[in-house]
Amino acid sequence: MREVIGQRRLLARLGEQAVSGDVAQAYELSGPRSIGKRTVATRLAQTLLCTSEPRAPGGCGRCLACRKIENGTHPDVRVVVRLMDQDRGDDRKFISIEQIREMQQDLALRPLEGAWRVVIVDDAADLSEHAEVALLKTLEEPPVHAVLMLLTPTPSRLLETIRSRLQPLPFRLVPAQEIADALAARSLPDARTYAAAAAGRPGIAIALASDEAARAARRALEKEFYRLVGSGLTDRFAWAVELADSERDPQKRNVLLESRLVDWSELLRDAAIRAHGVERPLRPERASESARLADAIGPRELVDLAIAFDRWRRDVVESNVNARMLLELLALRLPYAPAFAGKAA
Ligand SMILES: [Zn+2]
Repeated sequence: MREVIGQRRLLARLGEQAVSGDVAQAYELSGPRSIGKRTVATRLAQTLLCTSEPRAPGGCGRCLACRKIENGTHPDVRVVVRLMDQDRGDDRKFISIEQIREMQQDLALRPLEGAWRVVIVDDAADLSEHAEVALLKTLEEPPVHAVLMLLTPTPSRLLETIRSRLQPLPFRLVPAQEIADALAARSLPDARTYAAAAAGRPGIAIALASDEAARAARRALEKEFYRLVGSGLTDRFAWAVELADSERDPQKRNVLLESRLVDWSELLRDAAIRAHGVERPLRPERASESARLADAIGPRELVDLAIAFDRWRRDVVESNVNARMLLELLALRLPYAPAFAGKAA
């Protein structure tokens, strides 16, 4: 499929079928963040609504329809996301039933420009309970011109009655070589380094290779980790409180937690394999810190920590953990290495 990195086996048939209009009425696109779900949803919409002949999987990318879809202005493609307005009360934490009703009214009408109306719900796990039940009605009797795509990293949070009506499209981590080749093809710098750093998620590789802000954010998280490793409990608890209070919105707070757990489990993993004498770092630029951490903490403990952090990450993604409590536990569980005290990493 045009300009999609990875998922070849999954998408080859899907793309060919979509070109001839042979699509399911509803799909479940699942897989970790930054793996390409939104890109594939966009490409599938473009495949269906592209006006160039002959049709190609992913669309041509150049015709007016393809460009409108890319820019989010095509009248037959609707993206339903959680509204970010905090002041309107608690139900803005979810995709509301009103949003689903509005989508349904639209979906019932004939398409305006193409042969299809496409609805992308991202993230489907954000649907409120009522919204989910309302959506089920559409999935039970979809209009003939409707194609719905439900995107989520956590399909287990959807109602089973919903899932049973979706054709599953499970996304897998992408091999580093494939990501590196794709970055090089787009003339992005340091393809190999960023491909390795992304640990299978093309979106992260692209962000790191093309966006200084993404690189700075990553460096900031690394520094935060090493600073905490060199800090005592008083500083750590102050950190936990500050981070917990820095974001009121629980979902955004979970993203703050998740990004740290992803990042730090990789740093721990690097130190762990280093402690075992293996040289295959995800972050070669942090080789000296990994070596110092490996010297200070035993290899076994580092493996346990990396596993624990990854498990916590899953807990954060899959459920609404108590952020404050998790941060305090994290403060207690982080390894302590005086070698990092007072040093700017
Ligand atoms: Zn096109």
